[in-house]
Amino acid sequence: MARGLPWRRPPGLRGHAANVESESVADESRHQDETEPEIAEEAPERLERRRLALAEVRQFGDPVLKSRASEVTDFGAELAGEAERMIALMHEAMGIGLAATQLGVMRRMLVFQAGPDAAPRALVNPELEWVSGDLVTAEEGCLSLPDVIVDVERPLHARLSGLDTEGRPMRLEASGLEARVLQHELDHLDGVLILDRTPRKQRRAAMRALREGGHFDPSMLERGGEEAAEAEPEAADAQRS
Ligand SMILES: [Zn+2]
Repeated sequence: MARGLPWRRPPGLRGHAANVESESVADESRHQDETEPEIAEEAPERLERRRLALAEVRQFGDPVLKSRASEVTDFGAELAGEAERMIALMHEAMGIGLAATQLGVMRRMLVFQAGPDAAPRALVNPELEWVSGDLVTAEEGCLSLPDVIVDVERPLHARLSGLDTEGRPMRLEASGLEARVLQHELDHLDGVLILDRTPRKQRRAAMRALREGGHFDPSMLERGGEEAAEAEPEAADAQRS
């Protein structure tokens, strides 16, 4: 099982590796410290900005997160402005992807930036055209579940089509982290969360942490030794609505 490592982890957060809304298929560097120095120096101020951004993101339990968004039919300046707002919020929240539904906007639009050097982009009315048979399990976090990290198995490669904010066709070929983020955000537009795609034991433990205001990551099950999460994906269980 490949363990995830994000390109950036917010300082001061418990847990290794994964970041909210950040996922990765990298493996070797799980234990390396990837905190960006300039962020570490201004951590308290940066974390406060992150907290304020997260306050605008709908959190687990909000029914919009279980709802399917509608196709976008109006393109142009207003939609482009909405995309800009989403990208700014994604940056403030130190995320690498965000779906409109996470802001309570029930329109099929997502933004993503899979890597510090990638340009942020918006994709409207996305469709998954093809996914590879290669599946990879990696840790994922979510801005709507800030203290939860779970293992999620997804295709390593994906091809998506959609539109830009002007309504012009776009096609994306993505691999690794980028493919993972796109699939994660597309799931949001269908009301599917990472909890719907993780093995049952992790789901159960993560739900308990959410109820009790605690933290969960997969190493907690491994440490506990009780049930070293035998992979038992719950895709069939996915609560799509
Ligand atoms: Zn998410």
